[in-house]
Amino acid sequence: MKGESAIKSRQGRGTSPLPDVRGYFGEFGGRFVSETLMSALLDLDRSFKKAWRESAFRKEFREILADYSGRPTPLYFARSLTQEMGGAAIWLKREDLNHTGAHKITNAVGQALLARRMGKTRLIAETGAGQHGVATATVAARFGFDCRVYMGSEDIRRQALNVFRMKLLGSEVCPVDLGGKTLKDAISEALRDWSRTVQTTHYLLGTAFGPHPFPLMVRTFQSVIGQEARRQMLSREGRLPDALVACVGGGSNAIGLFHPFIDDPSVRMYGIEAGGRSISPGDHAARFAGGSIGVLQGTRTYVLQNPDGQIENTHSVSAGLDYSAVGPELSYFRDSGRISFDWVGDDEALEAFQTLSRTEGIIPALESSHAVAYGLRLARTMSRDRLIIINLSGRGDKDVVEVSRLLEQKEGTS
Ligand SMILES: *Cc1c(COP(=O)(O)O)cnc(C)c1O
Repeated sequence: MKGESAIKSRQGRGTSPLPDVRGYFGEFGGRFVSETLMSALLDLDRSFKKAWRESAFRKEFREILADYSGRPTPLYFARSLTQEMGGAAIWLKREDLNHTGAHKITNAVGQALLARRMGKTRLIAETGAGQHGVATATVAARFGFDCRVYMGSEDIRRQALNVFRMKLLGSEVCPVDLGGKTLKDAISEALRDWSRTVQTTHYLLGTAFGPHPFPLMVRTFQSVIGQEARRQMLSREGRLPDALVACVGGGSNAIGLFHPFIDDPSVRMYGIEAGGRSISPGDHAARFAGGSIGVLQGTRTYVLQNPDGQIENTHSVSAGLDYSAVGPELSYFRDSGRISFDWVGDDEALEAFQTLSRTEGIIPALESSHAVAYGLRLARTMSRDRLIIINLSGRGDKDVVEVSRLLEQKEGTS
């Protein structure tokens, strides 16, 4: 891969690569922050682009992913599942086999390397369920950074095990008691910390979201998923897949898988949001089904908000998809028609969680179960000679207690 040109999106011949220099993907993205943060973001943008042009930086990134995280992750043919569905061949990109159990470590390694290069000594991060907090605490331990993770006090209560993990790894977990005491409030608090401490501190944002250059940078790091999948599918089947499916929280595992295929018109792409209990306000996190364009936490994108611009509450059985906005690049490709979006509700995701466990001996994260559920729907409508890749973004060990509680509850009511 070659420097600058490899960073940017190729939108087909004759059009400019995205994002533009101010971080816009068409009308989405940008950099809506205070003046203090603006200079930190400009600095980060310059440092990232310079680092990524250097083959030594990319080489170190690749080597750490190999030795420490276990990349490349396998592309696995799910034979039993394919037989049971009776349609397209289902392949799973095994991001669940990464160190710490999900794709998030890849972005954390990339940003930690960059922060070290920039001479920062401290990392801060936001976390909802705790997965990104654990990934950040992990790289902080590995590279020797001080680390503080902001987490809503409501989430701290619900995710005690991940809180313990972060502390064990040597990080400080800072409760946020503002607003709804969840992810959105943790991001606001992390941005506030950063504006006081930019000299020493890097804000390690966990998804392809927020002000420029975060969406570009996170997508660039996570594109290793799609680059590997492309190579693996070509070597196994001698051709490109017909469809890609990924779940969408902020959008990093989805854009990471999709981006290297953006210019392959035969490859269809499906981003799957959390449909929760129903598509009515407060019951879901399907931004493209129930949202409208607005500015939230530094970026212009689709947001779940009421007509006055108040952010709506969200709900999903999976904490990692439970957020009121979505990455700006996905908003752009949604409006351009390149990527299709749909949603899967709590019940269907729970069913897919069990189906994959039973047929393949793989327990998926509840987030990934949304992609699995949609992939199964899709496979049944496609002929046997077609190929689907489902991004298995994470493993489900973290979810088994919650799933067993939900299934017991269901049995009680049926
Ligand atoms: C955090 C998380 C997600 C959602 O984040 P994206 O940035 O949209 O990928 C999906 N799956 C797992 C396993 C996660 O931990």
